[in-house]
Amino acid sequence: MNGNRAWFDKDFYKVLGVSESATPDEIKRAFRKLAQKHHPDRNPGDKAAEDRMKEISEASDVLSDPKKRAEYDEVRRMARSGFRPDGGGFGPGGPFGGNVRVEGFDVGDLGDLFGGLFGTARGGRARGPARGADLEAEVRVNFEDAFEGATVPIKLTRDAPCATCRGTGAEPGTPVETCPACGGRGTVADSQGMFSFVRSCDRCGGAGRIVTSPCKVCRGSGVQRRKEEIKVRIPAGVKDGARIRVRGRGEAGGAGGQPGDLYVVVRVAPHPLFGRQGDDLTLDLPVTFTEAALGAQVKVPTLAEPVTVKIPAGTQNGKVLRIRGRGAPKRKGHGDGDLLATVRVVVPDKLSKAERELLERFGEMYRGEPRAHLEV
Ligand SMILES: [Zn+2]
Ligand SMILES: [Zn+2]
Repeated sequence: MNGNRAWFDKDFYKVLGVSESATPDEIKRAFRKLAQKHHPDRNPGDKAAEDRMKEISEASDVLSDPKKRAEYDEVRRMARSGFRPDGGGFGPGGPFGGNVRVEGFDVGDLGDLFGGLFGTARGGRARGPARGADLEAEVRVNFEDAFEGATVPIKLTRDAPCATCRGTGAEPGTPVETCPACGGRGTVADSQGMFSFVRSCDRCGGAGRIVTSPCKVCRGSGVQRRKEEIKVRIPAGVKDGARIRVRGRGEAGGAGGQPGDLYVVVRVAPHPLFGRQGDDLTLDLPVTFTEAALGAQVKVPTLAEPVTVKIPAGTQNGKVLRIRGRGAPKRKGHGDGDLLATVRVVVPDKLSKAERELLERFGEMYRGEPRAHLEV
């Protein structure tokens, strides 16, 4: 908004030091006088003069072109009356309900000057029937469900469309009339000079329809507070804290309005054994000193059946063994993950007398020099 603010605050008349009723001649003279004074040729290296010159040129460009001047005057007039074409400045409750669309504005013509400014406003939409609020719910899933995907039920209390009137707000069997003020469009256009503003219709509140006898159950709101249980698909591989959007499961809109969305925040419980790395499962695999040195077949848990894995002789601590196909199950475009088992060599801390003697003998015999590279 700061970029736009500059424009709103720009007073081209003030820049040139002329009145708003200045004639084209007066504008021309004022420009020449200022341009002479601030021209960069006369002020070499003076940044302030350069900026000032830019300002003067811009003001002159607009004010000496009758068409541009008329449009500038028009927009200025509107800005004074409180309207900001960038949509800023008003909260919801502003004179146009916070949503105003400017139509019929030829951006091409004044593209350099106002184009960016109106870009935002043009993209806006006049307020129709109120859209329902978004809801947020939290769901806890276990590690396996998050990994493989699951459908989980979520209980929520929300404003749902009234079951009696089906959200129309009208007593069943009674007529709903098309709003005569807006012809059912829910919006009306106000013309102001070359601009036309589309705003929400006062008469029908943007619904486009007028209910003659309101529904007794929801008192015409079209909305009913209800407890519901909905099923939410948790995609495989979902991460803790992920937000899943369920369209249309937020609060119901007012009569005829779109419902909001439901955002489900997924909380994934950690697994006592496994971690996750994309489609791969991770696991710390403790092995004994002898298993690592001599090699062994060890049983490794997976999310399904345990598998037997060969530890090669001479396996070092920290070595990662990739157990193919034991990660995320294969699914559309994903999966076929592996189980990555990180070998943790466990050093025996309680030794029997015999074991100790054996290891002492081994220590005397052993010719390995694991710290050779540290010697200086
Ligand atoms: Zn109702
Ligand atoms: Zn209306």
